[in-house]
Amino acid sequence: MTAATNEISPEYHDLIIIGAGPAGLAAGIYAARDKQDVVLLEKLSPGGQVLSTDLVENYPGFPEGIGGFELMDGIRKQAERFGLTILGHEVESVDFTGDVKHLFLNSGSMSALSVIAATGAQPRKVGIQGEALLTGKGVSYCGTCDGPFYRDAVVAVIGGGDTAVQEAIFLTRFASRVYVIHRRDELRATKIIQERAFANEKIKFLWDTVPISIQGESSVEDLKVRNVKSGEETTLNIEGVFVLVGTSPVTEFLKGAIGLDDQGFIKVDRRQETNIPGVFAAGDVTSETPRQIATAVGEGVTAVLNAEEYLEEQRG
Ligand code: NAP
Repeated sequence: MTAATNEISPEYHDLIIIGAGPAGLAAGIYAARDKQDVVLLEKLSPGGQVLSTDLVENYPGFPEGIGGFELMDGIRKQAERFGLTILGHEVESVDFTGDVKHLFLNSGSMSALSVIAATGAQPRKVGIQGEALLTGKGVSYCGTCDGPFYRDAVVAVIGGGDTAVQEAIFLTRFASRVYVIHRRDELRATKIIQERAFANEKIKFLWDTVPISIQGESSVEDLKVRNVKSGEETTLNIEGVFVLVGTSPVTEFLKGAIGLDDQGFIKVDRRQETNIPGVFAAGDVTSETPRQIATAVGEGVTAVLNAEEYLEEQRG
């Protein structure tokens, strides 16, 4: 997948979309096809979190499932076929106080009448000793990305949601043993994913268990865990720790400018509009979304159709 380019010209566009995950790219397909004056800003490569998903099985239209990379590459190519310009810039802060919205970038600034924030979410940290020090040296936030490094190794996954359990199953392709460390005695993951994990002999669940610390100097050597019911502490001799405990929204650049919920997700109405007229948000960055690829796409489309209606009104 090609990285975003770095050209800014011109500085003003009717509509600026921030973020090239499923929500932003879906909005971009519609806006570009509708011949709007639109650009999409993306700080990394287009694709978002889906890029680190091995197989997407629940996105309609692909009976056998589709690879995350393949799906996002196709969506990006579809947007570019309609002429969507994707620029490689990070938005650092915004000023939404006037009719024209200003975006301050890592280099320069841009302005627009309407903005769609589709910046998604990033992996949450578990906040234990050794986590930061050993990130990239055995501590990972993406099983699909780093799994192949752990051939015949013993690894641990922290978390009990869809991501953790699905990634644990993926890791069994390489690792000889995968511990799933979950703080309760019941998984949050959907039933079909749970059943697959329970049937996999390489996966061992440690219930009611929380991680305490990760040991090692240049690589992970041990993971210390505690059973929250018995208080018993155990040291697991492992080579990799996959922290998959959910995500936090990417909204730092919006603080004070639009309404966020207490966890920092953007509050939107049914039209995907925020509390600022002309500013919309879609996908994982929004509050109370189901956080699925299909819903992100739908929210992106809802946002862009309402942004286009807003632009029509502004143009008179
Ligand atoms: P999630 O559903 O929020 O699950 C996070 C997991 O981490 C939970 O089991 C939670 O435990 C645990 N956890 C959170 N903080 C923790 C901490 N400090 N210490 C230990 N454990 C902690 O996140 P996710 O799995 O990334 O999924 C996010 C969304 O994407 C969900 O809506 C999910 O359905 C969706 N998703 C769907 C698919 C799919 O359909 N194939 C795949 C991936 C993700 P508790 O359960 O005790 O809270």
